[in-house]
Amino acid sequence: MKAVIFCRVSTKEQGEEGHSLKAQLNATKEYCEKKGFELLCEPIQIMESASKAKRPEFEKMLNFIEKSKQKQVALVCYAVDRLPRDLKSLAELESLVMSGKLEIHSIRENTILNEDSDDFLYMINALMARRETKVLGKRVKFVFNDKRKEGVLCGDSPLGYINKQRKHEKKKEKREPVEVYIDPIRGPLMKQLFIDYSNGMSIEIARINAIKNGLTSKKGCKPSMSSIEQYLSNPFYCGYLYSKKYDTKTPHNYPKLITEELFERCQEIRFGKKRKKPKSNVKELYTFCHGRLKCHHCGASYSGETKIKKSGRVYRYLRTKNKECTYCHEVRQEIVESQVMEVLSKMTIDKDMLAEIKRNLQKLVDSHYKDNVDSLKKLTSRQLQIDESLKALRHKQIPMTIRSDEYEEIEQTKKELHEEKHQIELKLSQLNQSDKIFEITFNTILDISSRASDLFKSSEIGRKRKILDLLFPNLSLSGENLHYSLRKPFNEVLENKENLVWLHFGSKLRTKSYAGVVNFARRVKTMNFDIDRLCAAT
Ligand SMILES: [Zn+2]
Repeated sequence: MKAVIFCRVSTKEQGEEGHSLKAQLNATKEYCEKKGFELLCEPIQIMESASKAKRPEFEKMLNFIEKSKQKQVALVCYAVDRLPRDLKSLAELESLVMSGKLEIHSIRENTILNEDSDDFLYMINALMARRETKVLGKRVKFVFNDKRKEGVLCGDSPLGYINKQRKHEKKKEKREPVEVYIDPIRGPLMKQLFIDYSNGMSIEIARINAIKNGLTSKKGCKPSMSSIEQYLSNPFYCGYLYSKKYDTKTPHNYPKLITEELFERCQEIRFGKKRKKPKSNVKELYTFCHGRLKCHHCGASYSGETKIKKSGRVYRYLRTKNKECTYCHEVRQEIVESQVMEVLSKMTIDKDMLAEIKRNLQKLVDSHYKDNVDSLKKLTSRQLQIDESLKALRHKQIPMTIRSDEYEEIEQTKKELHEEKHQIELKLSQLNQSDKIFEITFNTILDISSRASDLFKSSEIGRKRKILDLLFPNLSLSGENLHYSLRKPFNEVLENKENLVWLHFGSKLRTKSYAGVVNFARRVKTMNFDIDRLCAAT
C-alpha cells in the first residue's frame, strides 16, 4: 500500500516531548517501513502559527489523495490529534475513509480507521478527547509559566482595569493573553483607595469612602472587606505581576495605576510597620455591644476604649473609626447602656399582671385543646366524604350526548370539592402543630421580657451580648441617641404591654403571634441559649 505521512505542530506545542516535527517524522517513517508502505509523496509537514491559516495545505493533500490512481492510500500520522479538528476537514476525511479510498493510521493510539470503522467521527472524537484530558493540564500549565515569566496577564485584570473585549471570543481562548487598559471610572477610585489607606485610614473606612464615591466590583456589587484587602496587596497596580503559587513578582507592560512607592507604603501599613500605636492611656475595651452597634448614618461599627485620666478616673468610650462622619461622636458607654436598659425596663410586666396572663394562657391552651379535638374529628370525617364524592364523580359514566351545561356543572362541583379539601388539609396541619410548644415558649417570652432589664443589669459581658442578640436585630447610634428594633415576638409584647388584657380575647392573640412564637422557639434552640438557666439566675 502507498502512504502519505502527515505531521503537524503548533508553535505552542513545539517544546513538548514527542511533538516536534522531527520526532513525528521519525516515528511515522519508521512505521511505514515496518508496514512496508511506500511513500506516495514527500511527508507533509505543517508548522502552524496561531494566525496563519492551515486549511489550504491540508486540502491540497486530500485532493492529491483523491486524484491518485491508488485504490487505497494510508494516511499515517503520529497521533489522531495531529489531524485538523475543524468540522469541514473532519467531514472531508470521513467521506474519503468511508468511500474506501483512505485509511488513517495513528501510531500512538495504535489505531487504524477505515471504511469498516463503526462511526468514524465518533472514533476520532473519542480518541482526541482522551488525549485532550491527559495533555491539556500539562500544556496549560506550561503556557502559563511562560506567560507569567514574560509578565503577560492571562485571565481577568484586577479592579480598576478593563480587559479589552475581543469580538467572537471563544471559550478556549479565554486563557490567552489579554489587552488591558485603565478603567476610566474605577481606575481613579482605586488610586484614591490606595492613597486613603496610605494616609492612615483603616481599610473599613477607606472602603466605605470608596463605595460612597461609586466604586463597584466588575459585576456591579459593593466590594467586600476581603476583596479590598486583596486589591491593596496586589502589585499589579504598580507594575508587577504576582503569582501567589510561585511567589514571584514579574514586571508587566500594562499601564500603572499607582507608583511603586505608594504601593510599598501601603504594604508597610498592612504589615504593621507604620501602624500608629494606641496612646498609652487608651486601651481597647471589650464592650457589651461589641460588633452589635453601628452608626445610624454611615454604618461604621462602634468599638470600645478605656481612657484613664490623670486623676485616676476610668472613662469608657465607644467610638467608630470613621473620622469623616459628622454623626460618629465619641460616646460614653454608660449613655448607651442606660438607653438599652430603658428599653428593657419598658418591657417589664407587673407581677400580678404576669400571673394573670399566664393563667389566661393556660385556660386558652386547654380550651383550644378541647376545641381542637372536636374540630379534628369533624374535619377528618368531612375529608373522607369529599374523597368519596370525588371518586364517585370520576367513575360516573359520562354519556356521549351530555349537554354542555350539565358537563360544566359536574366540573364546577369537582372544583368546589377540591377547594374544600384543600382548606381542610390546611386547617388540619395547623391543628396538628403542638399547642404545648406554644404555651411553653410564650411563658418563656413573657419571663424574659419581664425580667430583661434585671437580667441585663446583673449579667457579665458575655451574657449581656446574648441578651442583645436575642432581643435586638439592629442597634445603631445617631449621635448619642439609640435606634433599635425589637425582634419578633418581643416587639408585640412591648407594643401591647399596656393592653395585655388582649390575652382575654385569647384566640386573637393566638392566631396573631403563633407563627412568631414558633419561629422564636426554633431560633432560641439554634442559638443554644439556655433560657431556663437565664430565668433562674434572677
Ligand atoms: Zn457615622
